[in-house]
Amino acid sequence: MLFEPYVNEGYLDFSDEATLTRFRSVLERVRGELGRDYPLVIGGERVTTGDWLESIDPCQPARVVGRSAKAKASEIEAAMAAAQQAFRSWSGLPMAHRARLLVKLAAVLRRRREELASWEVFEASKNYLEAIADVAEAIDFCEYYARQSLELAGPRPAHSFRGEENTSTLMAMGVGVVIPPWNFLLAILVGTTVGPVVVGNTVILKPSPSTPIIAQKFMECVAEAGFPAGVINLLTGDDADLGDALVDHPQTRFINFTGSVATGMRINERAAKVQPGQNWLKRVFTEMGGKDALIVDETADIAAAVDAAVASAFGFQGQKCSAMSRLIAVEAIYDELLDAFVARTRELSVGPAEQNADVAAVINRKQYDKILRYIETGKHEARLVLGGGAAGDPEQGFFIEPTIFAEVPQSATIACEEIFGPVVSVMKARDFEHALQIANASMYGLTGGVCSRDRARIERARRELEVGNLYVNRKITGALVGVQPFGGLKMSGTNAKAGGPDYLRGFMEMKTVTERF
Ligand code: NAD
Repeated sequence: MLFEPYVNEGYLDFSDEATLTRFRSVLERVRGELGRDYPLVIGGERVTTGDWLESIDPCQPARVVGRSAKAKASEIEAAMAAAQQAFRSWSGLPMAHRARLLVKLAAVLRRRREELASWEVFEASKNYLEAIADVAEAIDFCEYYARQSLELAGPRPAHSFRGEENTSTLMAMGVGVVIPPWNFLLAILVGTTVGPVVVGNTVILKPSPSTPIIAQKFMECVAEAGFPAGVINLLTGDDADLGDALVDHPQTRFINFTGSVATGMRINERAAKVQPGQNWLKRVFTEMGGKDALIVDETADIAAAVDAAVASAFGFQGQKCSAMSRLIAVEAIYDELLDAFVARTRELSVGPAEQNADVAAVINRKQYDKILRYIETGKHEARLVLGGGAAGDPEQGFFIEPTIFAEVPQSATIACEEIFGPVVSVMKARDFEHALQIANASMYGLTGGVCSRDRARIERARRELEVGNLYVNRKITGALVGVQPFGGLKMSGTNAKAGGPDYLRGFMEMKTVTERF
């Protein structure tokens, strides 16, 4: 066996005083490194452009986390050429060679995990546990895909035919564009990059303009692990300069996107158009948003359901695609559940991520304004029972109060659209059947949950809830790589199932050779 069996990376226990002290000292060190400049990485060369993208700390917007060079059209061409060139040798290497590099990369990430988590605290306002969990997931993607790739090496099983030699082998596709979101700023960025790369593709990585510095730190790790130049190229910059241009490029072979439904639909449409000089149909992976519901019935353990609801709704300020934004309670326990949910939410601390608050700032001013607009809409659509506005002056940080609306009708905007912030719609169902109907009446189908002790209802939910990831009697966030392959149904995306056994196959093509003798 080339590698020891796969196991998920553990988190840190911040209730342990020594662990907490050590983490705070790393945080302190990283604080001293804020505000630096980072060039692009094209074909292993570090390239500056004279123009900078500023990354700021959402908890303290006057603080610059770092500046990353802004790429324009000429850098896109250079990155495409570098990735094309690297593809020739990279795609021809044995799978095990590339897999070993992923395991080395995992080792580098692991060695630097507290430092990387600290960057996440500053750049995305993750509290300590959310940050360390994100780094752990990035490590898991490297370890898991390294092992998965080995299963795709060599000829695929086929029946034999007399007088002929038949072989079907999988091979890499070419140069892909990787477009991750800012919310799992390291984990998704790493997973969507190393997946296609381990099976022989080369990529241009274009991170979110909100979180370019973590991408720069990742590139440091890629270099340290010994990846050849040009296999992973980094272009940071504005969406207006890079988004459409990378998607439309005739040399782009596939696009691995995770983000909002609006951007995903745009990419899907544009990528469908064959450009002059393009000799393939682009393969497009779009993993998109959610409007995730947790159903609680009258047989449920209410205290456990409340724990699950609070963790799912307000972890990382509700900015998870898997976050619970709809809590659907059957009439019989509606009041009891609502009261307990509000009481528990009231206990959450709101404050800087650096101080490890439960709920820190949302990512940027644009999201902050958007979430507050939804809250105002909600005030006309339902009954506000907690929060309902900004927590302080946005000049000092983009803090929003954990907000709960009750008796939210199914047709309300706040019950239908993804808000992506600390806002929950609590909805009343007549019974379990009605609860299932409400949950399924969404264009999204990412995660969902049921808290119940009724076996027949649990079985029914397993069959009927239209989601890619269903959780029973637990929180609906925190999918583990290799354990809970992640990806949605319906408008939540193409169901690539990150961290699952079928993921890597999507970035390969099969060639069949038949020789008669
Ligand atoms: P977004 O759609 O605004 O941006 C996602 C990425 O697309 C970013 O890198 C952005 O720079 C880029 N982009 C923007 N315009 C583009 C264009 N025209 N062409 C190409 N790329 C472009 O999403 P976001 O705000 O970064 O992330 C939040 C969203 O991501 C939420 O909707 C959330 O539910 C979703 N999400 C989904 C999953 C999943 O696995 N399904 C996981 C995490 C986040």
